[in-house]
Amino acid sequence: MSGRGSLGGIRWWFPVVTGCLVATGALAGDVFRFPTANHALFEPNGDAAFLAPTPGRTWESGSFGCVRTDKGGPRLHEGLDIKSLTKDGRGEPTDPVLASAPGTVAYLNRRSGASNYGNYALVRHYVERMEVYTLYAHLSTVQPQLVPGTRVEAGDRLGTMGRTGQPIGKERAHVHFEINVILNDRFTEWFRRHYPNERNDHGNFHGRNLLGIDPRAVLLEQRARGAEFSLARFLASQPVMARVLVKNPRLRFATRYPQLVRPNPRVDREGIAGYELGVNFNGIPVEMIPRTAAELGGLTTHRLLSVNEAEWRSHPCGRLVVRRGQAWTLTGKGDELIDLIAF
Ligand SMILES: [Zn+2]
Repeated sequence: MSGRGSLGGIRWWFPVVTGCLVATGALAGDVFRFPTANHALFEPNGDAAFLAPTPGRTWESGSFGCVRTDKGGPRLHEGLDIKSLTKDGRGEPTDPVLASAPGTVAYLNRRSGASNYGNYALVRHYVERMEVYTLYAHLSTVQPQLVPGTRVEAGDRLGTMGRTGQPIGKERAHVHFEINVILNDRFTEWFRRHYPNERNDHGNFHGRNLLGIDPRAVLLEQRARGAEFSLARFLASQPVMARVLVKNPRLRFATRYPQLVRPNPRVDREGIAGYELGVNFNGIPVEMIPRTAAELGGLTTHRLLSVNEAEWRSHPCGRLVVRRGQAWTLTGKGDELIDLIAF
């Protein structure tokens, strides 16, 4: 990807990462780069060489989406399992794992037994002034000099591919790679209030607060659009699965992702009292419309407005809403998600 330079691409980077461009000379139009030397996604029919499937299944099982199953039915795989290219004499992966974009180390887990992600690194980026994260899991080791706060450039080594965190056969060694948004920067407080007796070792970087988008789709769209790629546009183009009204007029997600807020002239005249959220199947508010008190009606907390049934059916692992008779309602999981977004 770094070979596909395009000067036009710096347009999106310029306001936030000028220093990086000077430091590395990287003028590629790509916001996200591949996190290992495996770039087979961009080869014809390259998916099978790019993604490590689960045993006995095709490459799709290593992709993002409702591709896994457990006792409860379809389950979300929230990232990509990118295949190893290089092994040592014992068949262990040796692929360097690289930062996908310039950013800052946000969180490191070096206690491989403490998470089913094993040893992992989480890096914070500002893309188009939006805060996004990339995550690299199942590492054998994290680079020793890294600590939270360390500045990294795209392509800097974060660690070495491994098989930590869960039973992963040598033949399907991979890095689990995610691109995430954080739902609420007050998660720690929300969690303490809702789960006073549960430990939270990960602070705001708890799995419930980090929601993934499809990195394969991001990489392919970047390639297709070149310098015209926009992460905000990618997010805004995600299909809305459900619409929900929330009473909070100071939604933190709206402050952090202003590009996803739509205009409402009535709010300009009457003032804001809350938001209508369009969430995708995974619960990310990909559209936020400010609403007036009159538009909210007598709303006390939040209320489900509508469901896109086709989208709900095509992503059966989301489980945010359920139909009871003719009426749709939020599930317990959906209710909690909206509560966290509105907190
Ligand atoms: Zn995975």
